[in-house]
Formats: sequence, structure tokens, C-alpha cells
Amino acid sequence: MIQKIDKQSGAAFTLKKGQKLKVISPEAEQVSDMVLFNAHDIREKLSSGKTLDFEETILITKGNFLWSNRSQKLMGILEDTNGRNDFLLAPCSPETFEIMYDYKGYHPSCFENLYSNLEEFGIGPDDVPTAFNIFMNVQFDNEGNLSVDPPLNKAGDYLLFEAKTDLIVGLTACSAEDSNNGSFKPIHFEIID
Ligand SMILES: [Zn+2]
Repeated sequence: MIQKIDKQSGAAFTLKKGQKLKVISPEAEQVSDMVLFNAHDIREKLSSGKTLDFEETILITKGNFLWSNRSQKLMGILEDTNGRNDFLLAPCSPETFEIMYDYKGYHPSCFENLYSNLEEFGIGPDDVPTAFNIFMNVQFDNEGNLSVDPPLNKAGDYLLFEAKTDLIVGLTACSAEDSNNGSFKPIHFEIID
């Protein structure tokens, strides 16, 4: 059954070892932030640093694994029809819009949409790690300068993940203008046995 995350919102759910998670962008140019926790001990969680180290690349895609802070595989990536994801940048937060957008007032964010949905699993704001940013198109030059460019994904592009252990998953439809080429779209997901 396909489940829907409305634009600028999020969801949290569990995934059993061996189950697959399909994350789909029903429209073009939309990013989805994903964080993972060990369902039996939430102190074990997704680690960008361990993943980039063990996978020996900063471009994580089909064939790569997502690793934890305890150096365990949390997920494998079985399919990736778009091929561009980011694992450098933290989830957009209220401060992102103050500091980088000069935006005043309330702005939805992945950070809020992650911790508010993960609260039912006992996970708080300070527990949220750097997310695996599905479809996010962060480019870098030879000097190391970063830019957030429009996502390259087309309508219907998806990633298929396989859980390597029992997991709690937080997932969003990203709320940052620059990450999504200025407009916000929903994200769909499907849990497959
Ligand atoms: Zn975001």
C-alpha cells in the first residue's frame, strides 16, 4: 500500500529486518530527508560519517549501504532510478531559514517534521542525526565550495532500501525552497515484505 506524505510534512514508522522501503517522488524535483534508528536501542542511529567512510564515496546510491554510529549496516540501497542523493547536509531547520534565507517568522522544516513525528518513539530533537537526503542535488567544486541545486529527479523516480536490522524510520517531504527548486511536492512511500 502506498502511503502519502503531504508537502512540507513528515512521517515516522517501523521497518522490520528484511522488509523493503520504497521512497517515491510522485512529481519532479522533490527532496525527502530520511533518518534511521535501531528499533531496539535508539542510541544507535544513522551516521553520515561512518557511511561516507566505509562506502568510500560521498555520492551514496544503488549498491551502497547506510551505516550506524556503531558501525553496523542499517540499510542497503537496492535500486535508485535517479542516482543523486546528498549525505553532507543536516535537515533544514527553523534556523536554516533565518540564517540562509533571511526569512522571518514560522517556516516548516524537515527538522521539526522529523522530531515531531519521531516523538512517539521516544526520540527528541537532539537525537536527530544528519539525514540521508534522497534526491537532494548538492554540488561541490574542486575548492570544496558547496551549492544546493534543483533536484534532478523526474516524476516517479524512486529508491528501494532493504532494512538490515529492525528500524525506526523518519521521512519527510522537504520544506526548503532551494532544495526543491522553489516549490513543494508530496513524497510517497511503500513498505514491502
Ligand atoms: Zn528539508
